[in-house]
Amino acid sequence: MISSPESISVLPNAIEEVHAFWIAGGSCDGCSIAAVGASSPSVEELINGTLPGIAKVVLHHPVLAVNAGEEFIKPFRLAAKGELGHPFVVLCEGSIMDESLAAKTGGYWSGLGADLDEFGDPQPIPSVSWITRMSEHAAAVIAVGTCATWGGVPAAANNPTNAASVMDLLGEDYRSSLGLPVINIPGCAPQGDNITETIASVLLFLHGLVPLPEFDELGRPKWLFDETVHRGCTLAGYYEEGTFAKEYGDKECLVEIGCWGPVVQCNINKRGAINHCGGCMNVGAPCIGCTMPGFPDSFAPFYKMPPGTQVSSTISKTTGTLVRNLRQMTQAYHNKTHKWIEEGHVPSGWGHIEQPSLLDKITHYAYQKLQYKGSHKPGSNN
Ligand code: SF4
Ligand code: SF4
Repeated sequence: MISSPESISVLPNAIEEVHAFWIAGGSCDGCSIAAVGASSPSVEELINGTLPGIAKVVLHHPVLAVNAGEEFIKPFRLAAKGELGHPFVVLCEGSIMDESLAAKTGGYWSGLGADLDEFGDPQPIPSVSWITRMSEHAAAVIAVGTCATWGGVPAAANNPTNAASVMDLLGEDYRSSLGLPVINIPGCAPQGDNITETIASVLLFLHGLVPLPEFDELGRPKWLFDETVHRGCTLAGYYEEGTFAKEYGDKECLVEIGCWGPVVQCNINKRGAINHCGGCMNVGAPCIGCTMPGFPDSFAPFYKMPPGTQVSSTISKTTGTLVRNLRQMTQAYHNKTHKWIEEGHVPSGWGHIEQPSLLDKITHYAYQKLQYKGSHKPGSNN
């Protein structure tokens, strides 16, 4: 794992533009959609060069490009030969499929542009060919989405394409022209800001303006993928208090109906899906582990309780029941003014507020003794 930038170069100063080539393998284009939905930073900010310290990004994307045909392909050809004349990064979306299998039937899995064969007929250039040739000269290769990072859905058991990841294609010894191994931004689809923020961080580093961002042993941006879904989940309080959803649409923790969040590394609950809104649990969906190398097979069948949950949710139910009741008691007192407590009555026209029982009062008295121990209780004379 690279932990120091000693073996890594930076781009020369005064680089005005960095090219970014987007190449799709076996994909659904969902990662492209996620990227254009990013807001911090946005694709527009990157390609307009409005981010301080970051060169303007010239994006070559097969769907977003204005150019078409050979005019669009020409920069790819130059980059593959190391003759582009500008530094560039390769962004890979989709899994790497075994083109030798497709070639047996005269077909291909995924490609971009065409070369003429010996008969003068155009033949598609496979994506894998572009990635292999361009990666030799690229300042960085960034795999975007779970298909590119680990293989994803196309690489699920019994697939006919022998699909794999960009890391599998380029191997563990691969280093970019500046010394970086493949960078991985997983997710199906990834959170859009995770894509653009990683690109921006790498560009800042390559300009020599910030230290090398920290990546984990699988090349994931550590600051984005170090924590579990569960630690940032808006439903974690329900888990802690031992209350669990029984069916979809219930508001409580989703672990008993298939959530793998406690063991999955993903930040979508903290960051939201788009523009800080949405995100799986925030919209009622259990985590199915889409950022993880084991996805999808290791998390199947989806929507079934993970086996380890039986132990942890049983513990939560036991301790959570006690904790929940104590909290409700405290909360009831904190929903009253001192005047209402002293008078034993809440003058609300919205509903009848139960008065505390003798046990509640004794518990609250003990609670307050602890709360104000060593300090002054507001309104008291000592
Ligand atoms: S819904 Fe999932 S991630 Fe959220 S608290 Fe429950 S188990 Fe954890
Ligand atoms: S919470 Fe789970 S299912 Fe949702 S994006 Fe993250 S890893 Fe994928």
